[in-house]
Amino acid sequence: MLPIIRSSNVTWSNWSGNVHAKPDIFHYPSTIQEVQQIVDSCRIRRKTLKVIGAGHSFSAVAKPDDEALSLYEMRGLLSVDLPAMEATFWAGTYLYEAAPLLASVGMAFENMGDIQQQTIAGAISTGTHGTGIRFASLSDQVVAWTWVDGNGQVRHHRRRDDDLSKALSVSLGLLGVLVKVTIRTVPLYSLTVKNERKPFQQAKEEWSTELLEQRHLEWFYFPGSDTVQVKTMNETPLTKQHWRSKSMDFVKEGIIETVGFKVMSEMVRLKPRLAKKMTHIAASAIPNGTKSGYYHEILPTPRLVRFTECEYGIPLARFQPCMEEMHKF
Ligand SMILES: Cc1cc2nc3c(=O)[nH]c(=O)nc-3n(C[C@H](O)[C@H](O)[C@H](O)COP(=O)(O)OP(=O)(O)OC[C@H]3O[C@@H](n4cnc5c(N)ncnc54)[C@H](O)[C@@H]3O)c2cc1C
Repeated sequence: MLPIIRSSNVTWSNWSGNVHAKPDIFHYPSTIQEVQQIVDSCRIRRKTLKVIGAGHSFSAVAKPDDEALSLYEMRGLLSVDLPAMEATFWAGTYLYEAAPLLASVGMAFENMGDIQQQTIAGAISTGTHGTGIRFASLSDQVVAWTWVDGNGQVRHHRRRDDDLSKALSVSLGLLGVLVKVTIRTVPLYSLTVKNERKPFQQAKEEWSTELLEQRHLEWFYFPGSDTVQVKTMNETPLTKQHWRSKSMDFVKEGIIETVGFKVMSEMVRLKPRLAKKMTHIAASAIPNGTKSGYYHEILPTPRLVRFTECEYGIPLARFQPCMEEMHKF
């Protein structure tokens, strides 16, 4: 009998609500030995085991079949090596917990994606990435992994130029249960974000230069309208986000996004022919402006309206022709 089983027969669903499962057992281990016992037990009983992070994948990649395992009880900062600028975390730590923990010792992730609700293990297992031409995915910041493999053995690997490091960088949970990860960090930094509404042609002409000059460049394109929201982010002297700017975010993202965009999405769902009109309204509602703060206050955005998305990679050189072609329709 495994003492670590906390619940069974629970319904699980991912964040966007498009994937559901009813695993027989949900395991919540709190030590590496407990993870080993669970893996062993599943192997002996011929049951499949899926590790679940924060369930923020849009696909069924985290969907459990027989049994599920969460590292919810294995979170937190384990150690820091200040001279090497490395930090070791329990793999179940959420990014929104990890970034402030790093900040408390003057360290930072060199980059983050659009949200910080993922677990470190989930984010690095799927190649989660942020923006910025100088940066690779979050998994590129990992310098060492500790995991329990399918035989219940504890394995450790320090990054080098080998196949195992590459496989661990986007493992989709296939290599076993990651329990600890060591991250290469940079000194704590702040960013200033600038949001601008631009006509499509202007945004397109400025794109190649901005891409190289800005630390981060994001485009939010509104199909059928002539507006692009161009978001740039660059380093600024170390500063915390002001409480007034945080309150504004709350109003803007809490009220405008939750109420406004949710209502518009639901209207379009009911009457699809309203799509073009609603897109125009959304495009004209984009606020121009700037704000500054620690990187982890600026890079991630609260996403309050649930959605399902997919992502395509296109060669950099094909970006402008591809956008032009889409813009014609
Ligand atoms: C609103 C929103 C915004 C997003 N923004 C971005 C973005 O900006 N950039 C981007 O690249 N992606 C983005 N994503 C996608 C998201 O980062 C990935 O899907 C990520 O994997 C989610 O992490 P998670 O902790 O929820 O993992 P889950 O979705 O729960 O799991 C993902 C995979 O990791 C495996 N896994 C989890 N924990 C472990 C472990 N301890 N050991 C071994 N395997 C494990 C699971 O088995 C599964 O295969 C976004 C998703 C949402 C919902």
